[in-house]
Amino acid sequence: MFINTLQISTKRVNSSLSKVRTLSVSDKRGIAGGHNKMTEHQRNYVINHINKFPRYKSHYCRAHRNEQEFLPVGTTLPLMYKLYNEETPKKDCVSFSSYRKIFLTEFNLRTKAPKKDTCNKCDTFQAKAQSTSSIEEKQLLKSEHDAHLLEAECARKQMEADLKEAFENNELETLTFDMEKTLPLPRLTTNIIFYKRQLWLYDCGIHSGKNNKAVCNLWIEGQAGRGAQEVGSCIKKYVKNNVPETVKRLILWSDSCGGQNRNIKIILMFKCVLEENPSLDSIQLKFLTSGHSFLPNDSDFGDIECALKRQQKLFSPEDYANVIKGCRKRNPIEVVFLEKNDFVGTGNIEKLITNRKKDVNETKINWLQIKEIKIQQDKPYSIFIINMHNAPDYSEINIKKRQGRPKNVDNHIIFLNNLEPLWPRGKPVAQAKLDDITSYLHLIPAADQPFYLHLTGDAILEEDIDGYNVAALDFELESGSD
Ligand SMILES: [Zn+2]
Repeated sequence: MFINTLQISTKRVNSSLSKVRTLSVSDKRGIAGGHNKMTEHQRNYVINHINKFPRYKSHYCRAHRNEQEFLPVGTTLPLMYKLYNEETPKKDCVSFSSYRKIFLTEFNLRTKAPKKDTCNKCDTFQAKAQSTSSIEEKQLLKSEHDAHLLEAECARKQMEADLKEAFENNELETLTFDMEKTLPLPRLTTNIIFYKRQLWLYDCGIHSGKNNKAVCNLWIEGQAGRGAQEVGSCIKKYVKNNVPETVKRLILWSDSCGGQNRNIKIILMFKCVLEENPSLDSIQLKFLTSGHSFLPNDSDFGDIECALKRQQKLFSPEDYANVIKGCRKRNPIEVVFLEKNDFVGTGNIEKLITNRKKDVNETKINWLQIKEIKIQQDKPYSIFIINMHNAPDYSEINIKKRQGRPKNVDNHIIFLNNLEPLWPRGKPVAQAKLDDITSYLHLIPAADQPFYLHLTGDAILEEDIDGYNVAALDFELESGSD
């Protein structure tokens, strides 16, 4: 029956059995240890290879006291393994699963930066609901979560209404703004580039509700950082050059991620925008719920990133600008290059005011929970805030210093003339990055090299995966309890 079932010959079985009986074969299964067991040499080779990739910190993880480091955006394990495979002699190569195992066990490295667009609240609700067995508690969590989702939905609908109104109403302009993820320069086709740091190009996108047009404001990290004041500087320039004098109300929508768009520096910057554009009566800053936001800028960035996928070589900011300008035929995106003088800081203005932590009713202010901020031309020393989108009224913060004699003010100008250059000598880049750039400079066409040669290095500067200046972040970080 055995022979028939397995469809084998009697002869084969007999010879096998006789070999076993005479002990001329022994069972060697599980003794050799597998032909693909790693040698120490192979293991070190993998470790050395992984060590060749540049690493970055993350301001996000810093807020969560996590020492994890990150590989450059786009560096995936399969890509790393592919490079390893190409560069390693065949006999020394280990399998992908062994490579992956070493990566996971020997390093505290991640290939993906933490996403800014996941919602802390949603994650918390989910985790809590899973860990409780009480039906009442589950129900309570669900109703809280529903309220949160409703709030996010309300904000989104309000933004759409504001954009539509700007299109129809001469006296209103609604702008949405966001920073695109950092764009690496140069882009080369050689593998070397995967092991080297690249210069970052920053893009602050502004989208208008009045004409549905998008503008990309570009600068490189050698000029300025990507903090609150840089973002404010871009909007200041945009408003001066683009918002018509018929507009009396300006509404600005952005993501509420972190504190980048909700802090005293950006408000003081907008106070200057009011002074610079006397036809404006008020500016309102409104925020989408982090993790639930989809700004018109996101689809602009999507079109840009789609066009970039088709590009293999980019050597200069102008190369990027050309891709951005040509990324879509309908409603093309405009590109503006920011210059040294465009970047202004509010350091001196902060000395002229008191950054109060309480409103006029003595209620404590939590900047990270503010859902709307309004400033008015006729109230230079007041900031109006709303904590919920559907809250009925603004509460007022008075930023006027209690003492001190009133300054001689030239009509309505109080703050504007106190703006200072933010990066008068440009901003140094991390020395390690500058060294890397020098090492592959020969791969860049001669005509584009001077651009890189003008950069200066700073040995202490810490590299952040999102291009922030970790040591000198000019806005408060989300603690996770927002
Ligand atoms: Zn959420």
